[in-house]
Amino acid sequence: MSDQHSLQSFETIAIHAGNTADPLTGAVVPPIYQVSTYKQDGVGGLRGGYEYSRSANPTRTALEENLAALEGGRRGLAFASGLAAEDCLLRTLLEPGDHVVIPNDAYGGTFRLFAKVVSRWGVEWSVANTSDPAAVRAALTPKTKVIWVETPSNPLLGITDVAAVADIARGAGARLVVDNTFASPYLQQPISLGADIVVHSLTKYMGGHSDVVGGALIAADATVGEELAYHQNAMGAVAGPFDAWLVLRGIKTLPVRMDRHSANAARVAEMLTSHPKVTQVLYPGLPEHPGHETAAKQMKAFGGMVSFRVAGGEEAAVEVCNRAKLFTLGESLGGVESLIEHPGRMTHASVAGSALEVPADLVRLSVGIEAADDLLADLQQALG
Ligand code: PLP
Repeated sequence: MSDQHSLQSFETIAIHAGNTADPLTGAVVPPIYQVSTYKQDGVGGLRGGYEYSRSANPTRTALEENLAALEGGRRGLAFASGLAAEDCLLRTLLEPGDHVVIPNDAYGGTFRLFAKVVSRWGVEWSVANTSDPAAVRAALTPKTKVIWVETPSNPLLGITDVAAVADIARGAGARLVVDNTFASPYLQQPISLGADIVVHSLTKYMGGHSDVVGGALIAADATVGEELAYHQNAMGAVAGPFDAWLVLRGIKTLPVRMDRHSANAARVAEMLTSHPKVTQVLYPGLPEHPGHETAAKQMKAFGGMVSFRVAGGEEAAVEVCNRAKLFTLGESLGGVESLIEHPGRMTHASVAGSALEVPADLVRLSVGIEAADDLLADLQQALG
C-alpha cells in the first residue's frame, strides 16, 4: 500500500484508490477501456505502458490498484473468476511433489480444484480442521508449501485464527493463503494478520450486485506479486474491462453494504436461534459459536452469511428453500438481494462423499440489505 493510502481510512481508499481521473477527459471514474490492443509509436514505443489487454488494461489496472490498497498488499491481480484466480495461484506456487493443507470446510469448487485438478499434477493435499491450530500443525509434512484457509468458511461459517495459522506457516516455511470472500477486506484484512496471499471471488461482496463474475489475488510481497502477474499473463484468465469496471463500482459502497449485511444477518441469526424448527444456527456473531472470540478479535463485524440446520432433515431443509419468497433460491452470495440455498444439493454437491461433505439438513442464507423485518417475515413463513 502506498504511503498516501496508509494515511487514509478504508472508506476513502475504497472510493479513491486506483480511481484517478481519466487523463484525457477528466472523467471522474475510470472509463471502460474496451480495447484489445494499443497503437505503438514505432516498434516498442508504448504510449501509456499498455501493449495488449491480456497483459494489462487500464480499467483492470484501476481495479488491481484498488484491490492491493484495500487488502494492504503490494500487488493486486484481477481474474475472470475466483476459481481462475485460485488456479493461477496454485500453478504459480506449487510443483509436483509439493503438499498443501486444505480446510475441512471450504467452497466446494475450491475442494474440487485440489481433488480433481491439482492432484493430477502430482501435488498432494491433506484436509485439516483449520479452526484448530494443533490440527493444522499435525497435518504438515516436510513438503508442505501452502496452508489454505477460508474464514469465515463456506457454508459452515467456521472461523480460523489467521494470526495463529500464519505463525505455523512461517515456522514451516509454507505460505499462508486466505480466501477472504465471506468477510471482504472491510471486515477482515488477512495480510495484516500475517497471511501471504489473499484470494477473492469478486463475484460476491466486492461486486455486490449479482451482476459480475470475477476473482482476485492480492500478494503481501512484491516479488510473489510479480511471479503471480507473470503467470496471470502466461495463463490468460484475466478480468475483462467491463467486469473490472463493475467490480470497481461495487467496491465504492462495500463499507456501507457490509455494515447493513452484518446488521441484518445478526437479526436473522437471533430470530432463527429461538425458532422451534431450527436445530442449530451457524453465525460467528452468536456468543455460543465456537469461533466467536476469534472472529471478534480479527473481524470488524460478523458478515452477512448465516447457515442453519432444520428439524426434519434434508427434505424439510429443501422445503424451506422452496417456500422462501423474498429470499431468492439460487447459488452465489454477497449481493444486495437476499439468497437462500441448500448447500448439499447445490453449491457443495461436488464435496459429497468427501471429508468436506456438508450436513443434509443445512440451509445457507446470504442475507441482503433489504429491510430486516421483511426478511424475518419471509423466513418465518418459509419455516412454517
Ligand atoms: N471462494 C469462495 C469462498 C466462494 O464462495 C466461491 C464461489 O462461490 C469461490 C471462491 C469461487 O469463486 P467464483 O465462483 O467467482 O469462481
